[in-house]
Amino acid sequence: MRLVLLGPPGAGKGTQASKLSQLLTIPQLSTGDMLRAAVSEGTAIGQQAAEIMQRGELVPDQLVVGLIAERIGRSDAARGFILDGFPRTVAQAESLDEVLENQELDWVLELKVDEQYLLNRILGRAMQARESGAVVRADDNEGALSVRLTAYTDQTKPLTDYYAARGLLKTIDASQTVDRVTAALVGAIG
Ligand code: AMP
Repeated sequence: MRLVLLGPPGAGKGTQASKLSQLLTIPQLSTGDMLRAAVSEGTAIGQQAAEIMQRGELVPDQLVVGLIAERIGRSDAARGFILDGFPRTVAQAESLDEVLENQELDWVLELKVDEQYLLNRILGRAMQARESGAVVRADDNEGALSVRLTAYTDQTKPLTDYYAARGLLKTIDASQTVDRVTAALVGAIG
C-alpha cells in the first residue's frame, strides 16, 4: 500500500506513520528524519538544510525529491510505504508522480487539528523533551513553529485540493487520542 500522510506540524504525522508502518509492515519514509540525520552527519545536504530547517522554512524541492526518490527505489519499499512529511509542495507532488511512474498512490490521509491545539502540542513536546534530558528539536520553539505553520498553510495545504481532485484524499480528525486516530486511519484505508 502506498500512503501519504499530510498534516500541519504537531498533528501527529510521525506517531501515526510509525503505527501504520508496524500494522502494515511497510516502511515509514520521513523526509524530516532523513534531513535531521543528514544535518547531524554533516553531509552536503545536511549543511544546505540546517539553517533553513532551524528557521522553520521548507528546504528546496530538488533536495528532498532526490532523497525520497533514492529511498523509494530501495527494495524494502517495493511492497509500499508511508510518506511522512513528503510531499509538501505541489511541485514535490508532481515529482512524486514522476518517481512513481505508473504506480498510483492508494490514499492521501490528511490529519486535521486546530492551530491553537498544535501550538500547545509542540511546545509541550519540547518541554517534555527538555525535562527528560532528551534532544529538543531545533525547530520546536514558538518562532520557528509559526513559520512552519505558515509554510503548511501556504505551500502544503493546497495539496489537499490536488489529491482530492484525484479522489485520493481522506481527512481524519487528529484531535482525538493517538489510538483513536490510528483506528480512524485504519478504517479510512480499509
Ligand atoms: P518534519 O520533521 O516533517 O516536521 O520536518 C522538519 C523540517 O524539515 C521542516 O520544517 C522542513 O524544514 C524540512 N522538511 C522536511 N520535509 C520536507 C519537505 N518535504 N520539503 C521541504 N522541507 C522539508
